[in-house]
Amino acid sequence: MENSSSEFNSLVQSLIGAEAMGSYIAGEMVPGDGATLSLVDPASEQTLLQFADTNADVVGAAVRSCHDGQKHWAAFSAQRRGEVMAQLGKLIQRDAEPLARLEAITSGKAIKAARAQVAAVAEIFRYYAGWTDKFLGNVIPVPGGQLNYTLREPLGVVLAITPWNSPIYLAAWNVAPALAMGNSVLLKPSELTPLTALAMARLAREAGMPAGTLNVVNGLGKTIGDAAISNRLVKKVVFVGSTQTGRAVNAAAAQRPISCLLELGGKSANIVFDDADLVRAAQAAVIAACANTGQNCAAGSRLLVQRGVYDEFVAAVGEAIADYRIGHPLDESAEGGPINNRAQFDRINRMVEMGLSEGAELLTGGVSEATGNGFYVKPTVLKHVRNDMRIAREEVFGPVVVAIPFDTEAEAIAIANDSEFGLAGAVWTRDVARAHRVVAKVNAGLLWVNMYRDMHVATPFGGNDSSGYGRSSGAECLYEYTRTKSVWVPIAEGC
Ligand code: ADP
Repeated sequence: MENSSSEFNSLVQSLIGAEAMGSYIAGEMVPGDGATLSLVDPASEQTLLQFADTNADVVGAAVRSCHDGQKHWAAFSAQRRGEVMAQLGKLIQRDAEPLARLEAITSGKAIKAARAQVAAVAEIFRYYAGWTDKFLGNVIPVPGGQLNYTLREPLGVVLAITPWNSPIYLAAWNVAPALAMGNSVLLKPSELTPLTALAMARLAREAGMPAGTLNVVNGLGKTIGDAAISNRLVKKVVFVGSTQTGRAVNAAAAQRPISCLLELGGKSANIVFDDADLVRAAQAAVIAACANTGQNCAAGSRLLVQRGVYDEFVAAVGEAIADYRIGHPLDESAEGGPINNRAQFDRINRMVEMGLSEGAELLTGGVSEATGNGFYVKPTVLKHVRNDMRIAREEVFGPVVVAIPFDTEAEAIAIANDSEFGLAGAVWTRDVARAHRVVAKVNAGLLWVNMYRDMHVATPFGGNDSSGYGRSSGAECLYEYTRTKSVWVPIAEGC
């Protein structure tokens, strides 16, 4: 359990092959020649594998290959594309256990969560497989009697840049709808967690996708981002990651200009009224803050609690959070694993220190020591936080929840909306009318009532303001990956 490296090596051999790690272009692995990058085991801090950063020439070749691949893929009938995507879902299911174990080892995610996400990846491909022949154009009754109809065309090559917190899940979440609409995808996974994306691309070939339909470029974000976004064959950028990097990606795309879909950070408000089922709300508040050890853009990181129940409720959350089981990623009983990387571990600690120095009171958890033996942090509850403190305004991306009191419904809404972000949130109350009033007024792309965290590929996901723009799932996202062509044909006699 302590040392995952021998299992890691055999998983890499079986899922990715024996070739030197690099970029996967038209079915071949192309090594980089730049700076040495290391994959570090989050549970032991030992290096698992090293590889070289890529360069602009390799990125250019990958884009050209995607351009060629897209022509073949779009020439498949819509039904055939659906069959291939459904087959990819089956292959993901076939390899689910090794994929989940590789995901757990490299991302630090607890194995139970990794299994659930790999199962969701299979479901994502099945879901979009069903859409390939169902996203239709229109016939428009124009006044001159001409036949006017619209075609929904693929864009061409889509660049998808994805993060390290849920690597294969977020890769599939963004790759699958683009592929379903007949685009090819150049996937750039995080340099910290590139392996399961590579495995997925290999399975896409096995499922019958033409070479170049799904290429994966591996290396640093800057190396790949600059070269790919400026390439005129790239027609759209989907980015999932930090708000800061999202702004840079958006600015680069604006130079072309091409459109982006941005899924960025959050500081979501989990609002608990005094009439709520406080037992359920406290359990859910822990999951809202700690799922994936808090490395989750939709985390309920601001806990807004009505003053009359504030002390009692926050104490209950503190007790429950102290029992949250953080353990080795391959430990079957762990609910959360270590933080993925050293920079994020340090950031979480700095943020907790900052909150304390701003006057927050530590209820549970606190700053975690660097042991040299895994990036393990303590789930933390900070009490008596004001919404103007930095700890209430900036995303921590770790299991840290700040508890803010409020008096009235109007004040709860005002605090929830006093944030640069607008991703998610929840309302806990037994008053149905109040629940609907509050969700209508909270600025977020996703709201839960008397629950937290459920998501599904069939429902739109995305945020507002500094949380990004666009919706990355459900039927709605298919507009993101197609463009409309309007066609006029004179058909009336004498027309
Ligand atoms: P973090 O800082 O938490 O690692 P990022 O938002 O920087 O998160 O990373 C998300 C993804 O964005 C990763 O795949 C990363 O390599 C990529 N990335 C980082 N910098 C750039 C950039 N300048 N252009 C394009 N992609 C980038």
